[in-house]
Amino acid sequence: MNYQSEKELALRIVTEAAKLCQRVQQTQGAKAVQKADTSPVTVADFGAQAILCQGLMEVFPNDSVIGEEDATLLQQPELKGVRQQIIEQVQQSIPTATPDDVIDWINWGNGQVRQRYWTLDPIDGTKGFIRGNQYAVALALVEDGSIKLGILACPAFPREDGNKGLIFLGIRGQGTVEIPLEGGNPRQIKVDPSSQFEQLYRIESVESVHSDRQVQTAIDRRLGLTYTAKQMDSLAKYGAIARGDAHFYTRVPLPQFQGKKENIWDHAAGVIIVEEAGGKVTDLEGQPLDFSVGTKLSNNYGVLATNGTIHSQVLAAIQQEKSS
Ligand code: AMP
Ligand code: MG
Repeated sequence: MNYQSEKELALRIVTEAAKLCQRVQQTQGAKAVQKADTSPVTVADFGAQAILCQGLMEVFPNDSVIGEEDATLLQQPELKGVRQQIIEQVQQSIPTATPDDVIDWINWGNGQVRQRYWTLDPIDGTKGFIRGNQYAVALALVEDGSIKLGILACPAFPREDGNKGLIFLGIRGQGTVEIPLEGGNPRQIKVDPSSQFEQLYRIESVESVHSDRQVQTAIDRRLGLTYTAKQMDSLAKYGAIARGDAHFYTRVPLPQFQGKKENIWDHAAGVIIVEEAGGKVTDLEGQPLDFSVGTKLSNNYGVLATNGTIHSQVLAAIQQEKSS
C-alpha cells in the first residue's frame, strides 16, 4: 500500500484549506467567536474544515472523519453574519457550494474512530493564527490504530529562502518531506540526531497554560541544556523537530489540568512526521500514543517527541523529576 491517492488528495485539500485561512487573515482579519469551552474559533476554522471534509467525502466516502469543529454553534441567530462569511469563503474555493452543503461538509467531521479514519484540525493554534504567528492545517489517516499518513500545512513557517509557508508530509515507510506551500519540489527531511544536550533546543507552546513550564525547566536542568526553549504555536513544533530546527518537545499536563486528555487531531499528523524523519514520539511514561480508543488520547499521559537519539535520556529525566 503506497497511499498514492490519499497523498494526492491530502496535498490538494490542505493546500486549498491553507489558502482559505490566508485569505481570511488578509481580507477580514482573524476575528474570533468563543466556543462553549471558551476557546476561540474563526471563519477560517469552519471554512477550512468544510474544504477538507468535502474532499474526503468525495474521494473516500466510506472513511470516517473526525474533525475539531462542529456547525451546531453556527445555528445561533447572532452568528448569522459569521455563517454567511464562512459560506462566502468556501464558495471562493468551491463555487458550486450551497449554504446547506457548507454546513453538511463541516458536520461530516463528526465521525467516530473506526478501523480506518481520518482526523483533522482545520486550524491548530487558532490563537497563533489570530496573533499572526504559527498555525497548522492538520490531517492524518489512521488504520488499525496506526498512523499511515500525516500532513501539516504551515502558512507562516519561516523558510531558508526568506519566504514563509511549508507543507510537511509523512507517509509510513516513505519518510517525511517538506514542500513549499505554493508548490515545488519535495525535500526529504531528517531530524538532527545530536545528543549533546548543551547544544540542543527544546521547543514549547507559546501559550503558557498548555504545558507545565516549571516541570519543563527542571527537566532542562537535569539534562544540562544551556539554550532557552524555542516557542512556537501549534503542530508546527513537530515540523520543527522533523527538520532539525529543534530536538525535543514535551507536553506536560499542568496540575489544574491533570484529568484533561489530549485530542487525537492535535497530535496525529505531527507524530508520523517526526517518526518518518527519524524521531520518536511517546507519552511521558514512554508508552506509544494510542490512537485507537476515541477522540482523546485517553490511555496516555502527556507527550514526548524527540530526535530519537535522546529519547530514553529525556524519559529518564522526566521520571527522576516526577519522583523527586
Ligand atoms: P499549542 O500551540 O501547541 O499549545 O497547541 C494548541 C492546542 O492546545 C489547541 O489545539 C488546543 O486544543 C490545545 N489546548 C488548549 N488548552 C489546553 C490545555 N490546557 N492543555 C493542553 N492543550 C491545550
Ligand atoms: Mg488544535
